Amino acid sequence: TTTTRAYNFNAGPSALPLEVLEKAQAELVNFQGTGMSVMELSHRSATFEEVHNTAIANLRKLFAVPDNYEVLFLQGGASLQFTMIPMNFLKEGQTANYVLTGSWSEKAFKEAKLFGEAVAPISTKDNKYKNIPTDVEVAATDAYVHITSNNTIYGTQWKQFPNTGNTPLIADMSSDIMSKPVDIEKFGLIYAGAQKNLGPSGVTVVIVRKDLLENANGNLPTILNYKTFADNNSLYNTPPTFGIYMLGEVLKWIEAQGGLAQVEKNNEAKAALIYDTIDNSNGFYYGHAEKDSRSLMNITFRVADEELEKKFLQEAKEAGFVGLNGHRSVGGCRASTYNAVPVEACQALADFMKQFQANNQ
Ligand code: PLP
Repeated sequence: TTTTRAYNFNAGPSALPLEVLEKAQAELVNFQGTGMSVMELSHRSATFEEVHNTAIANLRKLFAVPDNYEVLFLQGGASLQFTMIPMNFLKEGQTANYVLTGSWSEKAFKEAKLFGEAVAPISTKDNKYKNIPTDVEVAATDAYVHITSNNTIYGTQWKQFPNTGNTPLIADMSSDIMSKPVDIEKFGLIYAGAQKNLGPSGVTVVIVRKDLLENANGNLPTILNYKTFADNNSLYNTPPTFGIYMLGEVLKWIEAQGGLAQVEKNNEAKAALIYDTIDNSNGFYYGHAEKDSRSLMNITFRVADEELEKKFLQEAKEAGFVGLNGHRSVGGCRASTYNAVPVEACQALADFMKQFQANNQ
């Protein structure tokens, strides 16, 4: 293809696979001979239902979701999940246990406190969120334990998920869902906004163990009750149809890559190109995260000399690299290397970093 594509390292919304965008473009005005865009179809039509059900089935297959879990498509982003989780699962007399590993887990914790008793016995804040804890503390009163599997802002990622026994483990996987195979059975609920690894913003994926829904709080607003979505195949009201279509196409693309085992290998190789550049720079660049907690999705780093860091970001921008500024709350640099970021973009960034160092040392 001759399309000009940016080196897109945005943290979210993020790069989408070129093949998916081109397919969507080709069928935009006449989807499968309907004479309509997929956006113009009734969500109750057989054509759309097929798109919807295929997306759910492919997500189940590729992510190996067991039969005793529901796969739901919601709206409201991961941020609404911060609210829905305590609303549905935190009961009087119970505690909600939040492991704090960054700004997003802090936000989830804040919402839980609005509904009941939420506690945070483990936090890596004193270490500037540079690491992932080695263990969690589970109390008998805990309704669930909540973790953020990948910390988008600080660039850390759980490598091994904690064992919480019979207490459901809930994970915000917004920034690393389907970047690698995961043992779903370790979790009571997994949620993610689609806009990093799975598609455009507007769809939120929730994977939840069915028995948790049976024991959830009742008497909730209909649209904030997981059961509403589970009982209606996520078609209770009008879903984000175009987003679901795009998510379905991204899933087909993941399958064409060779599935999640291959996607994980690609992501490891991509991240290594940039981490190796940082580690071999003799301190010209340094990483934010401790090495054993490093994220394969969000690579956070600094240029040791503050003035040179500004120059680096400016020159990178001029060279066509997009989204390398760190989150506004922490500064520095961040390269987000989600599934759809091609290895060529990571190689180009590694080369650029080496050349910048050679020019400025
Ligand atoms: N959780 C994590 C880990 C994120 O990275 C983000 C967004 O960047 C969110 C939650 C918030 O997601 P949303 O914008 O879909 O509400």
